[in-house]
Amino acid sequence: MTTYFSSNFKLGILGGGQLGRMLLRETNKFDIQTYVLDPSNDAPCKPYTNHFTQGDLLDFDTVYNFGKQVDVLTIEIESVNINALQKLENEGVSVYPSSKTLSVIQNKATQKLFYTDNNIPTAPFSRFAFTSEIEDAIDNGGISLPFVWKAAQFGYDGNGVKIIRSVEDLIDLPNTECIVEEMVPFKNELAVIVARNPSGEIKNYPVVEMEFHPEANQVEYVICPARISEKVAQKAIEVALKVSEKINHVGLLAIELFQTHDDEILVNEVAPRPHNSGHQTIEASYTSQFEQHLRAVLNLSLGSTDNKTSGIMVNLVGAEGHTGNVVYQNIDTILAMSGVTPHIYGKKETRPFRKMGHVTIVHKDIDTAREIAQKVKETIKVISN
Ligand code: ADP
Repeated sequence: MTTYFSSNFKLGILGGGQLGRMLLRETNKFDIQTYVLDPSNDAPCKPYTNHFTQGDLLDFDTVYNFGKQVDVLTIEIESVNINALQKLENEGVSVYPSSKTLSVIQNKATQKLFYTDNNIPTAPFSRFAFTSEIEDAIDNGGISLPFVWKAAQFGYDGNGVKIIRSVEDLIDLPNTECIVEEMVPFKNELAVIVARNPSGEIKNYPVVEMEFHPEANQVEYVICPARISEKVAQKAIEVALKVSEKINHVGLLAIELFQTHDDEILVNEVAPRPHNSGHQTIEASYTSQFEQHLRAVLNLSLGSTDNKTSGIMVNLVGAEGHTGNVVYQNIDTILAMSGVTPHIYGKKETRPFRKMGHVTIVHKDIDTAREIAQKVKETIKVISN
């Protein structure tokens, strides 16, 4: 008999951002005690967790001492100290995703090697210890322009990724471990979230389609279900389930995919946690991704991943030219639109392209939902006062 509910059981979460904050709504629903570690004393999770610790997620002692207090430890960000997780696992703390899963995913070069080792389709790539080595490789014909440069570690929301069309584009990049990937001329970016619990129960959400902001490289719309053929959807799910099986994760695994012009599916990257491509599940699915992550890491039965209705998510990012105290301009107007729910992450300061919230649009008809989403996008602005 599990004793998570209204008990002394303690769940720890590494990272206190918006993903953690949305996870805490679910722990609250089940009356589960939580502990959160985040470097910022203003973290979005702080007002909602039972115990908050300010500290460095990459520091061994900080993560170890934090983890020692809890029964199950999970993450909402991958950049955490893996050695500390390993020691905690050895001492009996359940860590999901495990240090092993994280060590495959945390470094993009390791992650890419994992795909090639397991015959998982992905764009061809080369690995470099330093960005400065790339120019030589171009000169001697080892790689050819254009290509995509990716920092092996610590990139997020597109800031560790750059399309390189000429050697001059390399100049401003950090001189760090990186990969160089062939440009995929894709038709669509898709994603599938797979949930797995320690007993091995597995469920996948429907395929979503992601539309990106051309400059910021951030997702603008997530559309669920993706407007693709049943055959492509099946293929995407098959690939996602293969990645999930090979990584053998516990909790959620979000698999980002490219659909090429001839309908091949390639894996771009994965995240072992709730993901931006699953926010619409809060309103549109029988079980939100956050409840599902919680069910999975606690080894409870997984919930239904079916859609109740079509759903679209619009990211609310800070407008260009605005830095300072945040104002959600015209939020009243979008609230008057049909099926529209804003989520505000509780960050006091806005900056250009900072993720400040999201809006979900639900409608039984996906095309109508997309039209409303466009109106939402054009109406609400995240500015400073
Ligand atoms: P992040 O970890 O910052 O999310 P990604 O690896 O997902 O970085 O890359 C961000 C975006 O850059 C992708 O969603 C896609 O639009 C583009 N991109 C990444 N890799 C490639 C590639 N090989 N070919 C073309 N576009 C790419």
